[in-house]
Amino acid sequence: SARLLTGLPVAKKLRADTARNIKELAGTGVVPKLAVVLATDNESTAWYVRSIVRQAAEAAVHCDVVDLGADAGQWQLQEALEALALDHTVHGIILQTPLPAGVDAAVLAALIPVHKDIDGANPESLGRLAAGLPAYAATTAQAAVEVLEHYQVPLAGEHVTVIGRSMVVGKPLAQLLLARDATVTTCHSRTRDLASHTKASSVVVVAAGRAGLLTGADLNEDSVVVDVGTNVDEAGRLIGDVHADSVLPVAKALSPVPGGVGTVTTSLLMLRTSQAALESLVASAQPA
Ligand code: NAD
Repeated sequence: SARLLTGLPVAKKLRADTARNIKELAGTGVVPKLAVVLATDNESTAWYVRSIVRQAAEAAVHCDVVDLGADAGQWQLQEALEALALDHTVHGIILQTPLPAGVDAAVLAALIPVHKDIDGANPESLGRLAAGLPAYAATTAQAAVEVLEHYQVPLAGEHVTVIGRSMVVGKPLAQLLLARDATVTTCHSRTRDLASHTKASSVVVVAAGRAGLLTGADLNEDSVVVDVGTNVDEAGRLIGDVHADSVLPVAKALSPVPGGVGTVTTSLLMLRTSQAALESLVASAQPA
């Protein structure tokens, strides 16, 4: 039965990397700071933001939550982001979704300077990624790759199928995998015969938001499966996109939900904030 690729050991490694960066920053006067811009009263968003605040405190990363309220308008959000973009004490900016109806999310995301865009929300970050230039990939996409790399799953030359083509997971993930020399197939809701692609792959990453989408019949005995999906079942429990009962006996490895990719994302945000803080030092040391 499948080996479980759990997220906790990956998160622990990322936390150790963050601690090393924080140590390097000690004495420079620079304290890594993350700003989370929020304009919703969505309960699961509030829960996620609380977990960011908690992990920031544990990591010694300063965290400012800029809560503009669920009725914030475009202009208010724009003003807040522009101020954070200019604020030299802020190294990372997260624009939390969902945003109020009628707000233009793409215009707002484009206001986050690429070097502070630690959640890869600015379309320019995704473009840079595709062009092979330095940029932060959307955190969830990177978290899936961190899980694969931590468990030393071969990617170079391997056929990897990504299910989902969103800007937060599928597209950046395909770029990260290409950069690791994988042969990448991106599937989506209009793909015909999904199983023909997944069966022919050694790695399948599923990020569709459809409970039970991927079953054992879609895989082979060498399949490594990363489940990015988060769904809630009738009993109110968190479940992924993988039909675990049929996949576990067939696949070689599976990242579980909960306890897989989702466990890694917040640690990655802290690591990136500390990295952005270090890079701000290097940038300010350069002659104008
Ligand atoms: P999305 O709705 O924007 O995109 C879903 C993608 O899946 C689309 O590209 C769509 O074409 C594809 N898809 C839908 N049904 C399909 C089907 N039957 N067959 C093949 N492809 C199909 O969602 P998203 O924002 O990319 O998120 C995807 C999933 O990942 C969701 O469950 C979301 O909750 C989860 N997620 C988890 C984390 C985390 O931290 N664990 C973070 C972000 C998103």
